[in-house]
Amino acid sequence: MKKILSVIIFLVILSTLFVGCGTQDSNNHIHQWSEEVCGERQHCLICNLSNSFIAEHNWSTPKCGQKQKCLRCSVENDVLLSHTTDDGVCDRCGEYYISKEKAIVIENTRYQQVIQSLEDEYNTSLENLNLKAKEYKVHIIHTESYINSRLTEIANKLSTLRTELAIAKWDTSLSGKNKVQKLEVEITD
Ligand SMILES: [Zn+2]
Ligand SMILES: [Zn+2]
Ligand SMILES: [Zn+2]
Repeated sequence: MKKILSVIIFLVILSTLFVGCGTQDSNNHIHQWSEEVCGERQHCLICNLSNSFIAEHNWSTPKCGQKQKCLRCSVENDVLLSHTTDDGVCDRCGEYYISKEKAIVIENTRYQQVIQSLEDEYNTSLENLNLKAKEYKVHIIHTESYINSRLTEIANKLSTLRTELAIAKWDTSLSGKNKVQKLEVEITD
């Protein structure tokens, strides 16, 4: 009799251990969970017990340029998914992509380079022009000084001839008169 009693006590203790199990409650039924609803807890359709966790959205596979959509409740995410790079091959979709901002930066850089090379070309041309102008000016100065020296030379020659003429006029002989005539022609030239 004592043995039977101890077996009963053992079984009672054993049964209380099973009561704590998540799938069964004190009424000894298996919980029948409600359908999952995003942002809500599931509850048992029999005993109305709530599940401990809130169901999160079940997002679709991310695609570039699209919003993710919940496969359960069809709600859309706010943000459009952008490519994983702003200049290069996208890790997600495998396409080459360049952002407008990046393209503008690259275009600006190219533009600056073109401007720079034009400026360089202009400066080089200007330098060459200045060099030519300088050469030309030097040439003009040479010509000017050449003309001046020639004029001095001519003036000197003229004064020499005049002196000779003055002396020759004193000579009244025929050869003297011829010499005067010859000198007069030379001065006129
Ligand atoms: Zn239940
Ligand atoms: Zn959802
Ligand atoms: Zn992409």
